Amino acid sequence: MYKQRMMDMHIHSDNSPDGIHSPMYMCEQAVDKGLRAIAFTDHCEIDKFFSHKYNSMVFHSYFECLKAKTSFAGELLVLLGIEIAQPLFDKALSERIINNHNYDIILGSIHTPKGFNCDVKEIPYNEINVYDFMKDYFRELTELAYWDGCDVLAHITCPMRRIQGKYNLEFDYSKISKETDELLKAIIENNKSLEINSSGLRQLMARPMPDESIIRRYKELGGKNITIGSDAHCAQDVGAGVYECMRLIKKLGFEKINFYTGREILEINNNI
Ligand SMILES: [Zn+2]
Ligand SMILES: [Zn+2]
Repeated sequence: MYKQRMMDMHIHSDNSPDGIHSPMYMCEQAVDKGLRAIAFTDHCEIDKFFSHKYNSMVFHSYFECLKAKTSFAGELLVLLGIEIAQPLFDKALSERIINNHNYDIILGSIHTPKGFNCDVKEIPYNEINVYDFMKDYFRELTELAYWDGCDVLAHITCPMRRIQGKYNLEFDYSKISKETDELLKAIIENNKSLEINSSGLRQLMARPMPDESIIRRYKELGGKNITIGSDAHCAQDVGAGVYECMRLIKKLGFEKINFYTGREILEINNNI
């Protein structure tokens, strides 16, 4: 039985291009904050795997996080993961990467949507139809939910960091309800977890990803599996917002929270 304390299933170390701190330091901070478990999920962008040297970063991430796992054994459960983005860009390569190491948890995400040559952060949302964009984005994630290589769909509404944040555009989710339902059903049908990503709480959008309305809909459709992740890129953000997300999902009727070891889904009670 895992003692009920916070678990953070989405953390980047300095083995991600935008990560700041070493796995050891991130673990120290996690212990100080009283976390029970953390999962290192450094970036691996499949479309830029060779050009941006992810091959060496992924290798270093695994072994440095393994060292931290060993050092903190008994004090903190350290899970070894990866955030694999655009994996369907090259499925064979993605499968080779995830089979190369004994990962505990694999997050699937889309940072560079099909038809764009840039990260979702760099898209000029005031110049495009955001509804058509989000429909396509959800369709691409739906396809990802059918891929066996990942366990969790990470930050499914991440373009909203800019749409509702930087660009401060109104967004009515009821206009994309068909695509939303298809995505949530695909997550359920394929026994994946929906990630509640707390990083939005630290940003201009000031809400978790996805929104409460989508988490509620997931529950209505029969969704049970949820992981919570801070998406920390520095030690001070480890565990940030996890407690708030636990409270939110509790309010929506989720009594369990999931985590993974050896890619096997496990649960703890959401006793906050
Ligand atoms: Zn991400
Ligand atoms: Zn991330």
